[in-house]
Amino acid sequence: MESDPHAPLWRHLTLRCYRELNDFLPVPSRERCFQFRFSGQPSLKSVLEGAGVPQAEVDLVLVDGQSTTLDHPITGGERLEVFPLLEPLEIDSFTPLRPRPLPDAFILDVNLGRLARLMRLSGLDCLYRRDFDDEEIVRLACEHGRGILTRDKGILHRGAVIHGYWVRNTDPERQLLEVIHHYALEGRLSFFSRCIRCNGLLHTISRDEVRDRVPAGAWREHRHFFVCDDCGQVYWRGSHHRAMTRTLTRLGLLSKTQGPETGP
Ligand SMILES: [Zn+2]
Repeated sequence: MESDPHAPLWRHLTLRCYRELNDFLPVPSRERCFQFRFSGQPSLKSVLEGAGVPQAEVDLVLVDGQSTTLDHPITGGERLEVFPLLEPLEIDSFTPLRPRPLPDAFILDVNLGRLARLMRLSGLDCLYRRDFDDEEIVRLACEHGRGILTRDKGILHRGAVIHGYWVRNTDPERQLLEVIHHYALEGRLSFFSRCIRCNGLLHTISRDEVRDRVPAGAWREHRHFFVCDDCGQVYWRGSHHRAMTRTLTRLGLLSKTQGPETGP
């Protein structure tokens, strides 16, 4: 039998993905070493793309035990170990792919509107607009050093994305906990400090100043009011505030005794 002179010369490497990166692999390749087939001399980045693992979620790749960069040429026979974001202690002796520090400001895709509200409620800086398209999200993320949070894996495969994360959960409250845990944001939460409509910061405003800007009942019942620096929305500690406090307490983010000190 004659071989086809135009057939690519296949090479192989051994690939192992760790932790949540397995979510991007077909089931038989998860949590184990598997053979990955390729031709030519691709970069490490191309191999990751070929395997379906978005480079935006990869923090460290060991090629035969050595940390390396995404442009590293792959020739065949290597053993690749691919890690997602790691704790600083775990990564100490290696060179991570992602620049440090990790982002503490975010931009969310169109599917994550309810998560955006919960994140703002928790004081996290997040841009969200229903009319942002993928290109705009990537551009704004790069310009302002924001991490992209998305339910669309496709956006993370764009080459320009530096920090990006595919949110696994579909329930917004679980998504909030997932993102806080993934980016280790526990120490950065500041409840009721940000406008849930526009992401602006809130500051206190005197009761007299808001007399004509809030319903008469709210003005009579409440002493403390807060206003958004950006859109002018006025907040007070009404029923919505109480409901959100209960939600944050139920999620374990706010303890029963630790009421929000400031904010509406
Ligand atoms: Zn606002």
